[in-house]
Amino acid sequence: MPNEYTALPDPAGLGTVRGMPRRPVSPGSEPVAGLTAPPVTDGSFPATARTRVRRADRASYDRALVHAILDEAPLCHVAFVIDGTPFVVPMLHGRVEDTLYLHGLPASRIMRHLRAGAEVCVEATLVDGWVMARSSFHHSVNYRSAVVLGPGRLVRSRREKLDGLRAIVEHLAPGRWADARPPSEPELRQTQVVAIPIREASAKVRTGPPADDPGDLALPVWAGVIPVHATFGAPAADASGERAPLPAYLAALIAGPSADPPR
Ligand SMILES: Cc1cc2nc3c(=O)[nH]c(=O)nc-3n(C[C@H](O)[C@H](O)[C@H](O)COP(=O)(O)OP(=O)(O)OC[C@H]3O[C@@H](n4cnc5c(N)ncnc54)[C@H](O)[C@@H]3O)c2cc1C
Repeated sequence: MPNEYTALPDPAGLGTVRGMPRRPVSPGSEPVAGLTAPPVTDGSFPATARTRVRRADRASYDRALVHAILDEAPLCHVAFVIDGTPFVVPMLHGRVEDTLYLHGLPASRIMRHLRAGAEVCVEATLVDGWVMARSSFHHSVNYRSAVVLGPGRLVRSRREKLDGLRAIVEHLAPGRWADARPPSEPELRQTQVVAIPIREASAKVRTGPPADDPGDLALPVWAGVIPVHATFGAPAADASGERAPLPAYLAALIAGPSADPPR
């Protein structure tokens, strides 16, 4: 019997939701195009008093860049304050257009906070390289990071809840949602999905070599960038129960973006 979840239409174009398709990430020595200054385009978020980056040469409010960082980052950190106590928790996320979806058990502190509509700060970071300078002072890291500020909204619509869960699963591995068993009704009841609008957001990017002082350039100390890559290891199949062959979409994910998918 066809399952109603799999029969859902795809009004938001979720078939194109991108999760971690480009890992391992690009080496830190490769510049990210157009990021030396915040682009002034219709595709930018406004810089607010809360998101204006002090170091403007590394800042961007470009919507596509913020989306790309959120999509490539394997996880995010969600910060919130309750009764004056700050908390930060790592979470999985998924994005659909300008909405970030998080999920969790209703009893957790973060989900109780989020479903009350309270404000959170979400951060996602990609580390692209260690920057080794000739002086200890100028050591740095090449990175791309995004910060999103906004209120949580408990997703009540069954359709949107499934869309949010699909975005989170697809973020882990594109193609997984259609392959794995869909959530049952009890599983859906045990899981809450919260939406955070991606409206007040910023990105920060550092690329390039160390910024050594001119007086240090003659020092006999190695300086440069050591690229940092995220890679997958050899998959270990679960031995309990039926064993299925590794699907092509997972093999492609493990192989990385530069390899051709296995034939
Ligand atoms: C990579 C990763 C992805 C995750 N993805 C999700 C997700 O998508 N959804 C989700 O609900 N949870 C996720 N978690 C777990 C999440 O970080 C929290 O642990 C969870 O939301 C709340 O747990 P709780 O109800 O047990 O604790 P809470 O009642 O929320 O917190 C109680 C206390 O437990 C401690 N605590 C809570 N979480 C952590 C932690 N991760 N590490 C160390 N101490 C902690 C803190 O001291 C906190 O104050 C993820 C964790 C990791 C590492």
